[in-house]
Amino acid sequence: QEPFPAPGRLRVVTVANQKGGVGKTTSTVNLGVALALYGLRVLVIDLDPQGNTSTALGVDHTVGTPSIYDALVGDSSLADVVHPTTASPNLRCVPATIDLAGAEIELVSVVAREYRLRRAIEGYVQSLPEDRRPHYVLIDCPPSLGLLTLNALVAGDEVLIPIQCEYYALEGLGQLLNNIELVRAHLNPGIAVRTILLTMYDARTKLADQVAEEVRSHFGELVLPTVIPRNVRVSEAPGYGQSVLTYDPGSRGSTSYVEAAREFAERGVHLTPEVDPRPMSPPPPP
Ligand code: ADP
Ligand code: MG
Repeated sequence: QEPFPAPGRLRVVTVANQKGGVGKTTSTVNLGVALALYGLRVLVIDLDPQGNTSTALGVDHTVGTPSIYDALVGDSSLADVVHPTTASPNLRCVPATIDLAGAEIELVSVVAREYRLRRAIEGYVQSLPEDRRPHYVLIDCPPSLGLLTLNALVAGDEVLIPIQCEYYALEGLGQLLNNIELVRAHLNPGIAVRTILLTMYDARTKLADQVAEEVRSHFGELVLPTVIPRNVRVSEAPGYGQSVLTYDPGSRGSTSYVEAAREFAERGVHLTPEVDPRPMSPPPPP
């Protein structure tokens, strides 16, 4: 298959939505695996103490495993806590252990606490020879707007918001967009929402169509054309320590994540090494 085009510069993508169960972890894992299988170097950072991303990538995250906690709260470098994955040699993962649950509080007294993840990523990327640097860093956020998500918004160049095609899909989104604007104004002028991904679409329900239409009318071009369908293979895969792409490559879940990843990758081609000056995120929905 045709490889995906490399982005014009490193893309650090924060996958955020403070609602739980909307497909953040599933999308981080499957987009990450798709980008890697189609030729791009990817680092996935699990920032949720639940460690579901680590599980889905087959990476150990029992207590004691070198993890993102050690880089955020301790003095490990990111290189010390990066693990290989079985999905692809192009894909590496920084797992999250349950220790991370304490980090929201422990970070409060750490110097430059909002910048810990950003500094860790910068140090890691610069330590690598150019031909081994990742094209993509994907950060899976916990379902809250605390210091961990704040670290991810300060570290990112762009935000990807998964939206579940369900009741109350847009509820709480205003709060997230306001937070992103605050981070943009005070901590990270480069950050903006660049991508919306519609997830768990059920073609049999009228509601899913209504939600998709509402999201598209509000966010326009930011919404990827490809929608991720609800597909049982997607939810089974993590139980086998796999992405849906490796678990059942022919499934609709798999093919749609590959298509979404291709669209996402194509949007990165035109980026230039200089981060765009002060891009605006869309206004919150009414
Ligand atoms: P979040 O990280 O936002 O909390 P998850 O990615 O963990 O959300 O998804 C929540 C649940 O929905 C998980 O059990 C996951 O397996 C399931 N799920 C996610 N996407 C799909 C899909 N396209 N089809 C079926 N189940 C899905
Ligand atoms: Mg999750």
